Amino acid sequence: MEKFACKNLGVDCDFVVTGETKEEVLQKAMEHGSVVHADLMKTMTPEQLAEFGKALAASIQAA
Ligand SMILES: [Zn+2]
Repeated sequence: MEKFACKNLGVDCDFVVTGETKEEVLQKAMEHGSVVHADLMKTMTPEQLAEFGKALAASIQAA
């Protein structure tokens, strides 16, 4: 199982998501981010978003 927590990225948020694959966790995390952290994400440039996506993917850990 794979796991992601918003705290992994230094975000003050208790959201944690688990899934069978990194892809599933990444998708759920991005959905969460686009709803709960919409204000944060809309301030990012496409380049920053791409870096954020990479950091997010890299922070997904086996659980
Ligand atoms: Zn969050």
